[in-house]
Amino acid sequence: MQIVKLGGSVVTVKDMPMTADHENVKRLAEEIKAAWPTPLVVIHGGGSFGHPVAKKYGIADGFTSERQVIGFTRTHQAMVALNTIIVDALLDEGIPALSVAPSAFIATYDGRMPRGDFENIGRLVVKGMLPVLYGDAVIDKSRGFSILSGDQLAVRLAVSMGANRLIFGVDVDGVYTSNPKLAPQARLIDRLSLEKLEGFVEIGKALTTDVTGGMLGKVSEARAAVEAGIEVRMVNATKPGVILKALRGEPVAGTVLTM
Ligand code: ADP
Repeated sequence: MQIVKLGGSVVTVKDMPMTADHENVKRLAEEIKAAWPTPLVVIHGGGSFGHPVAKKYGIADGFTSERQVIGFTRTHQAMVALNTIIVDALLDEGIPALSVAPSAFIATYDGRMPRGDFENIGRLVVKGMLPVLYGDAVIDKSRGFSILSGDQLAVRLAVSMGANRLIFGVDVDGVYTSNPKLAPQARLIDRLSLEKLEGFVEIGKALTTDVTGGMLGKVSEARAAVEAGIEVRMVNATKPGVILKALRGEPVAGTVLTM
């Protein structure tokens, strides 16, 4: 059983509102097809779909005003639109992909997801389907509303379902010593132990969000999966063939998170 998280930076054009990267989506569907059939769950991020709407209505800050209610539903709907594009691309390849809406069955507590009930997702996989979930606006039991990131969801799913491998597909080759998009001297870390990971998170926290970007959140979330003995890899899903190789367990450039 494998879990693949496709980053918003991969499946969307981040600086263009509500724009999917159709080329990446089609190619990734073809790569998944090449590895198919295989027990798999796909999660995707929001990129230019979910994030701008969620931000506009302050959904991640919790429920503070009635006007956010429509914002909650619009955030979800933006994600449904992106999810439809991805599920359709998989269906076009002949993969029985099934859209699963996180907001319909998951509630967080203070932004964190409890051990989820993923039994039904397991049943779908056993029947030969490919469930496709995403980061979503969800009910939060303490704050009212929250945003469940695709990263957190992917880790929870992987741990709860006892996955062997969790692959994060992003738009860089893996975890670097600093943000490769800002620091030309950044070096790719090919193995990141839990101990080093701790140091990385600490350094990241001390820096501004601009410097750390989304990688810090991913690495912090991934800790729980590494502790559960799951093989966690960060790879570049914008480079052709990389996700296919990762799915096949073949060597590929990237970062492996280890105990
Ligand atoms: P996604 O939307 O694909 O889930 P994010 O954009 O949230 O991913 O996070 C990936 C981004 O994190 C990369 O594009 C990179 O610019 C940034 N980043 C910041 N620090 C690092 C780092 N140390 N190593 C790798 N990427 C980093």
